[in-house]
Amino acid sequence: MSQSPSQAIAIAGNPNSGKTTAFNRYTGARQHVGNYPGITVEKKDGTAHIDGKDVTLIDLPGTYSITAYSLEEVVARRVLAEDRPGAVIDVVNAGVLDRNLYLTVQMLELGSPLVLVLNMMDEVESSGVKIDIARLEELTGIRCFAAVARKGRGLDDALRAAMALAEEKKGRAAPLEISYGTDLDLALQKMTPIAEESKLLAEHYPARWVALKFLEGDKEVTGKAVAANPEASKKLQDLTDEVTRHLRATLDTYPEALIADYRYGWISSILRNGVLEHEDDVLERTAASDKADAVLTQRFVGPVILLVVLYAMYYVTIQVGNIPLGWTETFFEWLSETAGGAIQSEGLRSLVTDGIIAGVGGVLGFVPLIMIMFFLIAILEDLGYMARVAYMMDRVFRIFGLHGASIMPFIIGGGIAGGCAVPGVMAARTLRSPRERLATILTVPFMMCGAKIPVFLLFTGIFFKEHQALIAFGFTILGWVTALLISKLIRSTLVRGPATPFVMELPPYRYPILSGVLLHTWERTWQYIKKAGTVILGISILLWAAMSYPGLPEEQHESFHKEVAQIEANAEGLPQEEVDEKVNEVNNREAEAELNNSYAGRMGRMVEPITSGAGFNWQTNIALIGGVAAKEVVISTLGTAYSLGSVDPDESQSLADRIGSDPSWTVANATALLFFTLLYSPCFVTLLVIKQETGKWRWTFFSLFFDLALALVVAIAVNQLILAF
Ligand code: GDP
Ligand code: MG
Repeated sequence: MSQSPSQAIAIAGNPNSGKTTAFNRYTGARQHVGNYPGITVEKKDGTAHIDGKDVTLIDLPGTYSITAYSLEEVVARRVLAEDRPGAVIDVVNAGVLDRNLYLTVQMLELGSPLVLVLNMMDEVESSGVKIDIARLEELTGIRCFAAVARKGRGLDDALRAAMALAEEKKGRAAPLEISYGTDLDLALQKMTPIAEESKLLAEHYPARWVALKFLEGDKEVTGKAVAANPEASKKLQDLTDEVTRHLRATLDTYPEALIADYRYGWISSILRNGVLEHEDDVLERTAASDKADAVLTQRFVGPVILLVVLYAMYYVTIQVGNIPLGWTETFFEWLSETAGGAIQSEGLRSLVTDGIIAGVGGVLGFVPLIMIMFFLIAILEDLGYMARVAYMMDRVFRIFGLHGASIMPFIIGGGIAGGCAVPGVMAARTLRSPRERLATILTVPFMMCGAKIPVFLLFTGIFFKEHQALIAFGFTILGWVTALLISKLIRSTLVRGPATPFVMELPPYRYPILSGVLLHTWERTWQYIKKAGTVILGISILLWAAMSYPGLPEEQHESFHKEVAQIEANAEGLPQEEVDEKVNEVNNREAEAELNNSYAGRMGRMVEPITSGAGFNWQTNIALIGGVAAKEVVISTLGTAYSLGSVDPDESQSLADRIGSDPSWTVANATALLFFTLLYSPCFVTLLVIKQETGKWRWTFFSLFFDLALALVVAIAVNQLILAF
C-alpha cells in the first residue's frame, strides 16, 4: 500500500439509491462525464465547493456488491482499492437498509474509510419506520447522516465528515473483520498469515480480504494472486478446497454462500438491535427466519424457551448418557481384570491396571456421554439457534463485561455440565472484541467440565445421596455465577475498557443435515478421545510412577517383613482369620508407608499445612495436584491412592465404600472438596491452550495461581463454616 492516496471522495451505493442526485447537488455544473479507460462504463468526476475548499468527487457506478461479476462491480472495486479515494460517501436507500448495507459491509471489509448517507428519509419517515441513527453509528463505528438528496438535506454534513475522514485516514481504514462462522473463521486464521507473509497483492488489498476472496472464489483476485505469487496462492487454494469440502459435507453449502449469509446476519443483527424501530407490521418481513425469531428471541418468551432447551439438553445428556456409561464402566473393569490376570510381573501389572487403564479408561468412559452432548449442541448450532442464544444472553453478559457470544465458550466449557474447557477456550475465537474474549477465556475453566463431574458424582453419592442431582446442578449454576463475577472483577481491574457494541451475526435458520451433525459430533468427540490417548495416558503413567516410587528403604521393608514373620510364628493355636487380619493390617501399613514415602506422597504432605484448613489430607492433596495435570485424574488418583495405600483382602470394595468408611472424610471437608474442584486451576492442557489463544504466558500463570488461591480460600471458608455450625 505504498501508493499515495488521492484526496478525492467517491460516492458509492446501490443503483437507484440517489447517488447521481447527490452528486449533482454537490457538484452542480462542475462535472465531467466520460468512460472508464477501455471500458464503456460511465465515469463521472466533479468538484464540490464547501467551506471555501474544493474537493474532487467521483460518482461510482451503482452496484449491489463489489465482487467481480459485472463490469460495474469490477470498476467500483478497482477505484476503491487502487485509486484509493480519501473517503467514500456511501449513499443508501434507507427504506431498504438491510439490502443496501450489503455493499457497505463489503466496502468496510476492504478497508474503505466510509461515511453513510441514509437517503430517502422523506419516504422512510412517512412510512412510519424510525431509524435510530446514533445507535447505527455506535454499532457500525461509522458516521451516519439522515438525508433527502432530492432536497439537499443532510448532504453537506456528510461531505464535511467525509473530508475529515479522508484527512484522518488517508484512504485506508482498518478493515472490518466479521465472523463467517467457526469453519471459515478457522480457515481465515490459517490463510491470512500466508497472505500477509507473502505480501500477496498487499499493495492494494488487506491480507484477510485476499484470503476471503479465495474463499469466495473470486476469479479476478485469485488470478492476480497466482500471477504474483504462485506458491502462496497454491497454499491458499488448498486451504480453500479443504474447507469447501468440509462445508459441503457438514452444511451442504459452499463458502461464498456462507459468507453472504454471515454478512446479512451481521446486518440484520445491527438493524434488529435498536436501529430499526417500526410500527409493528411495517417491517413484517416475509423471511421464515424472521418469523421464527419473532417468537424464539422475543423478550420474554425467548429466554423461557432457551431455559427449556438447555434443561432438555442437560436432561437428555445425563439420562440417555447414563446407559452407555454403565457399559463402558463394565468394559474397563473387565479389561482391568483380564489384563491384570494376564500379566505376571507385579510392577508391570500395577502400571497397566492402576496407571494406564484406570487413568485412560476413566476418561474414555465418558465418551458416550460427551458424544450425546456434542450431538445435541451440533444440532442447535447447525440450526442457527446458538447464535440466537448468544443474541439473547448479550443483555445479561454485558453487565459482567462479557459479550453475548461468550455463551458458546461457556456452554462448551461445561456451562451445561459435561463440556470441556479446552474447546471452550478455543471457541472464544468467535469473539471479536479482545477484552471480552480474554475475560471469557479466563473464566471458562470455572464451568462444570466433564472431567469434574465424576468427583461430584462420587462425593454427592456418598454424602448427599438424597439430593445428588440437585446439588450437582447447584454446582453447575455456581460455576456460572463464579464465571460472571470473576469476569466482572477482571473487566474492572486487569482488562478495563468499554464494551464492544453488540454485532452478532444471525445467519438464517436452516435445517441441520444428519450427516453434518454427525460429522461435527465426531470431530469433537475424536478430539476428546485423542486427548485421552495422548495427554492423559502420559499423565497417568507419570502419576502412577510418582505414587509408586521410590518405594520404601530396604530396612523398613525388612521391619514389616519381620512383623509378619513374628505374627506367623505366634500363629500356633489361633484361628486362621485372626492371623490373616493381623497380617493384613501390617500389609496395609506397609502400603500406606510406601505411598507416603513416594514422590507424590511427599508433595502431598508438603502442602498439607496449607490444605488442612479445608480439611484435605495428603491423599486428597495428591489427587488434587494430579488434577492440575488433568481433572479426570482426581478420581483415578484417589482410586490409585486408596488402592495402593491399602491391601484390602476384599478387592471388590469400591472407592465410594473406601471413602465412605474412612473417618477422615466428613460432610464439611467433602463439601469443601467440591467447591475446590469446581474452582481451582484449570488443567494442564487448558493452561497451554490459554497461552496459545491469548499469546501470553502471563494469562496462563494468572489462571494457575489466581484460580488456585480463589479455590483454596473458598474451600477453607466452606469447611470452617460447616464445622462451626
Ligand atoms: P442512482 O441510481 O443511485 O444514481 O440514483 P438517482 O440519483 O438516479 O435517483 C434514483 C431516483 O430516486 C430518482 O428518481 C431520484 O429523484 C430519487 N431520489 C433521490 N433522492 C431521493 C430522496 O431523498 N427522496 C426521494 N423520495 N427520492 C429520491
Ligand atoms: Mg446514477
